[in-house]
Amino acid sequence: MLRWYASVGDDPRIAVAQAVSLQRQLPFLYALLIFNSVGVVLSEPRQTPLLLRTLFPLALIAISGLRLLHWLGQTRRRERLRPPEARRRLRLIMLIAASLALAYTGWALTLLRYGDPLRQAHVMIYLTATAIGCIFCLSVLPQAALLVGLIIMPPFVAVCLLQQNTMHTVIAVDGGLVFVVLLRVLFNGYDYFRQQVVSHTRFKRQHDELIRLNQENERLARTDSLTGLPNRRRFHDDLAELVETTTAGVFAVGLFDLDRFKPVNDTFGHHVGDILLIQLAERVRAMLPGGATFYRLGGDEFGLLVSGDAHVAGNVGMRLCRALDEPFTIGELTIAVGGSLGIALFPAAGRLATELFDRADYALYHAKRVQGGGLCIFTHDLESAIRRDRAIEAALQACVFEDEFHLYGQPIVGARTGRVEAIELLARWTSPLIGEVVPADFIAIAERSTLIHGITLTVFRKGLEVARLLPPDVALSFNVSACDLHSPATFDAIERDLLASGIAPSRIWFEVTETAVMRDPTAASRMLERLRQLGIRIALDDFGTGHSSLSNLHQLPLDKVKIDRSFVNDLQAQRGWAVVEAMVGLCRALSLECVAEGVQNAEQLETLLRMGCEHVQGFLFAEPMPVERLPDVIRIIGRRAAA
Ligand code: C2E
Ligand code: CA
Ligand code: CA
Repeated sequence: MLRWYASVGDDPRIAVAQAVSLQRQLPFLYALLIFNSVGVVLSEPRQTPLLLRTLFPLALIAISGLRLLHWLGQTRRRERLRPPEARRRLRLIMLIAASLALAYTGWALTLLRYGDPLRQAHVMIYLTATAIGCIFCLSVLPQAALLVGLIIMPPFVAVCLLQQNTMHTVIAVDGGLVFVVLLRVLFNGYDYFRQQVVSHTRFKRQHDELIRLNQENERLARTDSLTGLPNRRRFHDDLAELVETTTAGVFAVGLFDLDRFKPVNDTFGHHVGDILLIQLAERVRAMLPGGATFYRLGGDEFGLLVSGDAHVAGNVGMRLCRALDEPFTIGELTIAVGGSLGIALFPAAGRLATELFDRADYALYHAKRVQGGGLCIFTHDLESAIRRDRAIEAALQACVFEDEFHLYGQPIVGARTGRVEAIELLARWTSPLIGEVVPADFIAIAERSTLIHGITLTVFRKGLEVARLLPPDVALSFNVSACDLHSPATFDAIERDLLASGIAPSRIWFEVTETAVMRDPTAASRMLERLRQLGIRIALDDFGTGHSSLSNLHQLPLDKVKIDRSFVNDLQAQRGWAVVEAMVGLCRALSLECVAEGVQNAEQLETLLRMGCEHVQGFLFAEPMPVERLPDVIRIIGRRAAA
């Protein structure tokens, strides 16, 4: 029993529920106590001593009034009750309840000595009714209810029985019985209250756990497991939210792509690739300012969201590109990948998430292909280029290559002999939808899809037809794109068409640009080697523009090098002259034939001859022309050379 009393407020869940419930019920208890006691004071006869009639009860009523005000004040307070505070309150309630019960009972029982039996019966009813009311109000704290009951009822029953009056005896027995029944009902009710609290707490805990697990799942589903960066899903969610919530400000959407990640993966394995991505994420986390978030969208693609204008976004973008240009150290390896970043600004570039994403993607494409890396911010000049590109792409999709493509040819001439040695075949496209389109515009777009293979094969087939019209000692030079070097199906088709044509493979040259080869030198070498085994010769086109190193050049299966026309154009300048001479010397050292492109005047030809360059091409000899005119032009150039 004592332990039961000592345990008041020990269970934190129940203590808080009890204290909250009592907070609501105690004002009723005090109101009842005051109302009933005032009734007794007012009806007390004059012979009762003044102390008992007014002074003592009024003091008790005043204390009860203060408690009433206290509890009314508590009811209005909204803050959460903590378990230690609840426990302290419950113990104080017990103490005050017991003290007041003692004082009120003592007072009422003393009053029984004064007045007639009717008056005494009033005091008895006052005591039982008030006791019942108080016990009910304290029902959620059974220890207090029982204590109050035990303080009031046994002395009350004993005093009533001592009066030896039948009516008083009946009231005493009745009061005692009500008290016992009341206690039973009260304990049942308390059990129910406790179970409710426990199951509610358990349910709440399970519910909280479920919410926590849900949040954790949600967080993982939006995080990239390798780098710990937020992932593609999170990027699109954040972008959609920014678009929705940004009314006055500006922000930037960036797409970042590593330039040389695939070769790293292929050469050193996926394990090194993974470590590189982890290091990259750490480096970016350390340098990004507040207001900017970096996401991994997949593979070697990343996203960037920056709140701020073009100036802020440009700054962040530049710093990001610079940071990722720095090489990474993985064990013994030092790897430089570098990257390209495209940025689109809200609202200047678009107000829809899809629009901003597409435009950042276009800016990225521009940064990668046109600028060769670094940062590009989307502008409206690019916008018209996008429109034009889209129209070209749609027309290409609908294009019947055989009908719409025709060929131009441009002679390549022996620098000393002046005779035509080969014809470079150049694609020309007249689209029924958008008219004439120059190769510079459609080749890059076709390279974004598999359409480029269709163009390569069409030009090749038509070129083999042209070969029949030309003298057998004139070769044909075809341009192939980087994408063709990764397409075994294109290679198979080339082999089939070549064998079927009966043209000697030694009459066929393929020109591959330096940038195309450098993107993936290992794969390119493999394909070029297969072409050479068929008897086809390989020329490295636009040499000097793709930053290939001497060792790269040495390892590639090449027969010729075409010096880019920009260098030939600079021949008159001292530095240009030195560069071309070095290139010619390099070709000689590597036993490669050397072709100078873009020769436009006699001085350039003279200089190239002196340097020892054996083959030349350019407007000085002939501009690209419809292939039908080639036989005549070859004859004229031949006659001029002989003379
Ligand atoms: P390229 O391979 O460097 O082709 C030579 C380009 O230089 C031609 O432009 C030609 O008109 C131009 N050119 C020739 N001599 C001179 C000169 O003395 N001065 C100047 N300023 N330019 C000269 P075109 O026909 O517009 O071709 C542009 C590029 O398009 C080509 O550059 C080539 O990379 C690509 N291309 C053309 N046809 C094909 C094709 O069938 N397949 C692929 N993959 N690319 C092609
Ligand atoms: Ca070419
Ligand atoms: Ca070229």
